[in-house]
Amino acid sequence: MSIQFLHKFITNLPSDPIEENFTRQVNNTAFSYVKPKIPSRPKLIHLSKEVQNLIGFSDDFVASEAFLNLISGAKIIGNAKPFAMNYAGHQFGNWAGQLGDGRAIVLGEIEHNNQLFTLQLKGAGPTPYSRRADGLAVLRSSIREHLCSEAMFHLGVPTTRSLSLISTGDEVVRDVMYDGNAAVEKGAIVCRIAPSFIRFGSFELLSSQNDVENLKLLADYTITNYYPEINTTGKEKYIAFFKTIAEKTRELLLHWQRVGFVHGVMNTDNMSIHGITIDYGPYGWLENFDPNWTPNTTDAAGKRYRFGNQSNIALWNLYQLANAIYPLIEEAAPLEEILNDYAKKYDKDFLEMMLKKIGITSKNDENENLIQQLLYNLEQTETDYTIFFRNLNQIEKTDTSEVCLAKITDAFYKPEEVTGIILETWHFWFAHYVALLNKELLSDNERKTLQNSVNPKYVLRNYMAQMAIELAEKEDYSLLNELYKLLILPYEEQPEFEKWFAKRPDWAREKIGSSMLSCSS
Ligand code: AMP
Ligand code: MG
Repeated sequence: MSIQFLHKFITNLPSDPIEENFTRQVNNTAFSYVKPKIPSRPKLIHLSKEVQNLIGFSDDFVASEAFLNLISGAKIIGNAKPFAMNYAGHQFGNWAGQLGDGRAIVLGEIEHNNQLFTLQLKGAGPTPYSRRADGLAVLRSSIREHLCSEAMFHLGVPTTRSLSLISTGDEVVRDVMYDGNAAVEKGAIVCRIAPSFIRFGSFELLSSQNDVENLKLLADYTITNYYPEINTTGKEKYIAFFKTIAEKTRELLLHWQRVGFVHGVMNTDNMSIHGITIDYGPYGWLENFDPNWTPNTTDAAGKRYRFGNQSNIALWNLYQLANAIYPLIEEAAPLEEILNDYAKKYDKDFLEMMLKKIGITSKNDENENLIQQLLYNLEQTETDYTIFFRNLNQIEKTDTSEVCLAKITDAFYKPEEVTGIILETWHFWFAHYVALLNKELLSDNERKTLQNSVNPKYVLRNYMAQMAIELAEKEDYSLLNELYKLLILPYEEQPEFEKWFAKRPDWAREKIGSSMLSCSS
């Protein structure tokens, strides 16, 4: 099998004339050509069969040395002309200027089944955008990206995909807690796949350089290749483009809230122009429902990226994108209208999504209140988000509040503390809930099917990833393989994996990697 890269990005957008690989400021360009670092002993650890099929790679090819060379960057395969993308961004609310792919190298785009896929190696060595860092990625963060991208896809959450995970055979030094305790770790590379890796920050970069010509070129390129349904011209075209991105972003954020995913670093350089989840770093999954929770140690003080603030931040990021493309439109009103709509529609859709989670199909004030009360209760009692909603599928229209509570009590971290007024509030809520269920047309069984389609049974809790990582560091990939199998069917009952339908164990409560994570990766 020979791979034909299409070279769309590099033939249509401005390149950096310098091809030497040294750290620098690169102006008025979308990318720089760069060759991946040759790894010492690349070894395939895990291949996602599903992604292989998605992009049309044959079994023979993925078993070949050429494939290992491709996904490790050991050799330039076919007509590949690898490059690193240039982009800027707002990090933690502040303008950070040029960032760019410091350790991600695009191999190129391929087409399969009329779909465009970009292949990118993360951790493949330094680029002109590496600033003071080494361009590498460690095994632990690569496992987290590989597993989580696939878990998210199967949860129905738009995301970049991960084709493969390899170890490089090289050592990488990291100071995980930024406290002067640097240690040697194993290097790794994931080959990720997305329509493209264009970010909000790609537009911010050119805009910040007042490079309207290239800004327009990038917008036109993105629209032509990825939003061909936009057929207006002039400024209307860019308004429609922004509207589409805002809508896709809103949908993405609703999915994150639905499954309890916290990205952890929602900087504008980590926001995809396709409305897909991108850049899996110190992300985490809600264990107990806590809107103030952020998995990122760097964010612990400000909690900017906390669970309950993600939609606001996405909107903030959309404002930055609106500012960036403003020169193509030169009129604020239509952009403002889209931004105002985002908030209004988000609140409405959020409510609908939550009603679905509890299996209620009609929308009225009474049902809305039920959701508000539930969110309040969940915050008052330490309750596991995944287990609570999944177990709610067992409630029947004839249940008393006593019976309901018995059915979801597994979701409480400290059931012995659910007493007195809190217990009463729960009784009240369940009584109200069952009364409303009785007004619904769905039978118990129909409701269960609906709920099971939006409330996953299995998610990648941080401690699970951490356990797989600790074994993988000893070259035991059994748990990594097991979790992959588990997570590609997150909504199914999988009796052999029932042990993963469990609350975070106590040992994982404060452990680094299992509760909080740093950005070090
Ligand atoms: P992130 O927080 O992972 O989105 O990264 C923010 C910026 O830092 C991006 O420009 C990355 O390419 C860059 N970066 C992160 N880690 C490394 C690394 N080990 N080497 C070079 N650049 C990096
Ligand atoms: Mg990033």
